Amino acid sequence: MASSTRWLSATLAICAGVTLVAGAGQAANGNEPLLAPQPAAQTVQASAVLKPAIYRGPKATSGKVVYLTFDDGPSRYTPAVLNVLKSYNAKATFFVIGSQIRTREATTRRIAREGHSVQNHTWRHRNLKRLSATEISSQFTRTNRAIRQQGIRQPACERPPYGAFNNRVRRVSQTLGMRTVMWSLDANDWRRPGASAIARRVVRGTSNGTIVLMHDGGGNRSQTATALKSVLRTLKARGYRFEALPSCP
Ligand SMILES: [Zn+2]
Repeated sequence: MASSTRWLSATLAICAGVTLVAGAGQAANGNEPLLAPQPAAQTVQASAVLKPAIYRGPKATSGKVVYLTFDDGPSRYTPAVLNVLKSYNAKATFFVIGSQIRTREATTRRIAREGHSVQNHTWRHRNLKRLSATEISSQFTRTNRAIRQQGIRQPACERPPYGAFNNRVRRVSQTLGMRTVMWSLDANDWRRPGASAIARRVVRGTSNGTIVLMHDGGGNRSQTATALKSVLRTLKARGYRFEALPSCP
């Protein structure tokens, strides 16, 4: 819990000086996903091709929505996550690592086929703050190409590994027509504290519009899949529905 708080504080510090929809993981109107802000200064020409900084969710959206997101796949654990999502008819957003698609093509296609959103988590999970604009661009475009080659729609969003981004990353991302998407609740599943600890943390931290960060790759994720069952069962009983991020079609 403490690390998440520290992380959020750090993020808010990074974003100081620009408008950021945040606050306990909840967006202003209760439905807007938390997105990284655009730089304050943009040329008119650039902004014409850019998507809005903060997605204003459909006005008709009502009730309680949770946006589950899974990073670092596709991996051998992704099918287990997909099975659980399917059993609850839940939709989610997967930020995939491009270089992993080649050995998991069927799994990648299955993610999309089952109604989830496939988005960009760079080619090799690089810390983008350490890369040049050209290298950042390559991380994104190679991944976009690999996704398209599976017959999946080109991602509209990217999530920087480690949540590490700066103005250069945002600029490149925008040039490619992509939004930078963070999260508002870290499930901490990557620490593998046990399935029940993961589930408890997500259930307690969720409110309407929460973007939950979980992982279907990057290590043994069997705890994540087990926790997910409990999360879906509990939150569904509380009236929540589970949707892919509407800002990342
Ligand atoms: Zn990651």
